[in-house]
Amino acid sequence: MLEANRHPNITIYSYSEVKQILGYIGNFEVQVQKNPRYVYDDICTGCGQCTDVCPIYITNYFDEDFSARKCIDIAFAQAVPAVYDLAKDSCVECYACVDSCDVHCIDLSQEPEIVDLEVGTIIIATGWDLYTGEEYGYGKFENVVTQIELERILAPNGPTLGHLKRPSDGKRPKNVLFINCVGSRNEEHPWCSNVCCLLSVKNSKLIKSEYPDTNIIVSYIDMRCPGKMYEEYYKRSREAGIMYINGKVGKLKEDPKTKNLILRCEETLIGEPI
Ligand code: SF4
Ligand code: SF4
Ligand code: SF4
Repeated sequence: MLEANRHPNITIYSYSEVKQILGYIGNFEVQVQKNPRYVYDDICTGCGQCTDVCPIYITNYFDEDFSARKCIDIAFAQAVPAVYDLAKDSCVECYACVDSCDVHCIDLSQEPEIVDLEVGTIIIATGWDLYTGEEYGYGKFENVVTQIELERILAPNGPTLGHLKRPSDGKRPKNVLFINCVGSRNEEHPWCSNVCCLLSVKNSKLIKSEYPDTNIIVSYIDMRCPGKMYEEYYKRSREAGIMYINGKVGKLKEDPKTKNLILRCEETLIGEPI
């Protein structure tokens, strides 16, 4: 990303949306809307003075709302471009940031800007929407988290500096269950997401390597680990003591006092309930 940002033939429109595409291959006319950051990205030096003086804290979307950031801040330390943005909805318009900025690049009246581009070829890199799994208590039970939230929890620059902690009380969990295929491979969404088996392998291994006494169970329909050496990676995680069970989780409830989760599932290969 940094390399692309520095390349003389590449212009990055971050925080922007494609609004319209007309024409045909070799001759497209594209309209891009640059959303307002309220900071001029070609002037901001990334000095951080505005963040220091801002009195308002908001949740940090980059950390899946597990940590706090200032109302004017940078998304994360390695963001490209390294430009600050202002969360207008939470801003109290005290103008402390405006007064602190030596290069005068904060403008609370900034509007969306339309950029017209002529391009020959368009490459569409699709993103994804997160399925959160309400059927397993997500949003209701504090200690049910998504894989993306776990990614941030286990990240060295994340809200807990990479140490596994329960959202409910900050304590280390001794038992961890991964439920695979949530939102995939059912009648509504029959497709395989293609990444989550390996995410479970990676994240369970990360937990096991920091806390070897953690009991980790991965519940799966099939383990799909395509790609060079990934099957071996999965085998190594089994050898590390991570338990893989073939079966779906049925009942899941929470102890309201401890916030511990109690669940029941069946290991279909041996027909035993757990
Ligand atoms: S004070 Fe100005 S230049 Fe410095 S990070 Fe904030 S917006 Fe950018
Ligand atoms: S104007 Fe808004 S963003 Fe700037 S310091 Fe005040 S609250 Fe923070
Ligand atoms: S089989 Fe694995 S990769 Fe495919 S949807 Fe299920 S968990 Fe995800």
